[in-house]
Amino acid sequence: MRPIQMVDTKTQYHKIKKEVDNAVLEVMESSAFINGKIVQDFASNLSAYLDVKHTIPCANGTDALQIAMMGLDLRPGDEVITPSFTYIATIEVIALLRLTPVFVEVDPKTFCIDPASVEKAITTKTKAIVPVHLYGHAAPMEEIMTIAAKHNLYVIEDNAQAIGSVYTFLNGEKKKTGTIGHIGCTSFYPSKNLGAFGDGGAIFTNDDKLGVKLKMIANHGQSKKYYHDIVGCNSRLDSIQAAILDIKLKHLDEYIAARRAAADYYDKAFAGHNNIKTPFRAPYSHHVFHQYTLVLDGIEKVADKRNELSDFLAKNNIPSMIYYPVPGHRQKVFEHFGGKSLQMPISDWLTERVISLPMHTELDADQLGFISSKVLEFINK
Ligand SMILES: *Cc1c(COP(=O)(O)O)cnc(C)c1O
Repeated sequence: MRPIQMVDTKTQYHKIKKEVDNAVLEVMESSAFINGKIVQDFASNLSAYLDVKHTIPCANGTDALQIAMMGLDLRPGDEVITPSFTYIATIEVIALLRLTPVFVEVDPKTFCIDPASVEKAITTKTKAIVPVHLYGHAAPMEEIMTIAAKHNLYVIEDNAQAIGSVYTFLNGEKKKTGTIGHIGCTSFYPSKNLGAFGDGGAIFTNDDKLGVKLKMIANHGQSKKYYHDIVGCNSRLDSIQAAILDIKLKHLDEYIAARRAAADYYDKAFAGHNNIKTPFRAPYSHHVFHQYTLVLDGIEKVADKRNELSDFLAKNNIPSMIYYPVPGHRQKVFEHFGGKSLQMPISDWLTERVISLPMHTELDADQLGFISSKVLEFINK
């Protein structure tokens, strides 16, 4: 059996090595390292794939979120609603811009933002909602967009974990995640579903005005070279990363299919187990399985047992991860936004019980069989 990794970007690379190597060499020969033609070509191809009007490449997913929020003319003290159960970047950029993050709960089944919790959190200061398509499962965008329209709020989708996912509306209409809200953001961090060989990110919008503005912000706020109209930043996707991403984009649907097949295997192995909840797939969400995350339930001292499972797997050379060991509202840095006094029982409940198993495009049946048998061996002990 091949060694098991949390993410196997190396095997994935070797399958497209010739094409990738040639593309990288071409950029080196061209010497157009910044803003080469390939950056625009990749952005156009990604726009076509997602069916969105504007794709603005940038340096990473965190910058994408920051630039999105800079584009909305929010003022210090304005409130931005975000799930507590997410990666730090989603929340961090809100605080960085001197806005106030307002933590809400997630649905314990989908791990994504809970619309009822959002409604309760809205005040006269609320300006935006940031749903996160966590682990590759789409957030309930139809309900979120309805709430946003009712209260005149912006919606910024954190699509870092779900690029390629499709959302199906009640009337049957389908849209890719990241193109439903006013702005969508993604990350091309190497382990993400569309991963570069370094850092990268992108911002999406169907709004022409916002498209122009976000592009300006990512480029020092300039309307033309050396003419700066607004405060911006320097956030670029370099040509080498764009060349690699342009090749990998052609394989994205196949990569998603491989992740879903691995998830199907795990689902079957754990089906019906009393103490293991496999990831829920809501009918509106085409799950792209950035992570395959189990929830342990009906077990005493579950957090300890979960950590022991992780150690047991490690002893058997099976990596696993806890995404995330501390929810946003309990992070030291956000203590002054409510911190410990905030009651977020669902986020806390999940934090104690989640464990993510190896998930990537290169898992084979031997590996999947071994991983699931070891999980069951420990839980049934
Ligand atoms: C990875 C990730 C980000 C940040 O992306 P970077 O490219 O690492 O800056 C933001 N939000 C979520 C949910 C992520 O998983």
